[in-house]
Amino acid sequence: MTTSGTLEWASSNVNIQKGCKNGCKYCYAARMAVRFKRCSNLMEWTTQIQVDPSKVQKNYRKRNGRIMFPTSHDIYTSNLIPCLDVLDKLLKSGNEVLITTKPEDYCIEEICDEFQKYKDQIQFRFTIGSAYNAVLKKWEPNAPSFDERVSALKRAYFEGFKTSISIEPYLDYYPHEVIEEVEPFVTETIWLGIMNSKIPKEGRELYNKKLYSKDFVSSLVKVCTIKAKGKLRLKDSIKNLFKEKRKKNERGN
Ligand code: SF4
Repeated sequence: MTTSGTLEWASSNVNIQKGCKNGCKYCYAARMAVRFKRCSNLMEWTTQIQVDPSKVQKNYRKRNGRIMFPTSHDIYTSNLIPCLDVLDKLLKSGNEVLITTKPEDYCIEEICDEFQKYKDQIQFRFTIGSAYNAVLKKWEPNAPSFDERVSALKRAYFEGFKTSISIEPYLDYYPHEVIEEVEPFVTETIWLGIMNSKIPKEGRELYNKKLYSKDFVSSLVKVCTIKAKGKLRLKDSIKNLFKEKRKKNERGN
């Protein structure tokens, strides 16, 4: 679930494993793991997954500020039990938790069932970078389809949980189509962000810099603002792009 800027959303984060089966080709956590020699490539990141028992067994106290869980892996059927254990401890200690995931419907059903009474402490943030399964498959080969993610969103919404969406990174020219589909089921915010050009080498030939040019982003933000009906928020990745543009214009004058 990684973005390079998780502190925009929470004061601290919790993770319980190394590696992530989704294998996203823009994965910041995988790039950092390769850079710091914790794994050798994206394939290893995707297949050699290790849950850290000490992070599952430890007691989690009340922390200051919201906790984001997870940030450097996802929640899916194969790690659901340890994830539920950790969520249980975080919530019982009184923490507010931002659950960030490319959601599997089954996992969201389990989380909603298990933590009904902690509803006020939970906000879901579902990542959906494209409304097109072919695009999602190309970038996030083992993550759920668009339809499954939308079903999970609707489930959380109708169960009365707080819901939000991350469209970071957006993966095609049409993120406003994601917004059109999800907006009625979002109780909080919809975040838009671009892809960092520093991605694992396995994703570099897919990277389309035209998608993240300043002029394209400017026009996209206008359309998305209308479609999101007051719920759109821009990630720092976009704010910084506009700041650079402004500085260049000022220097030009
Ligand atoms: S879901 Fe994708 S981006 Fe997030 S940690 Fe897993 S592989 Fe990386």
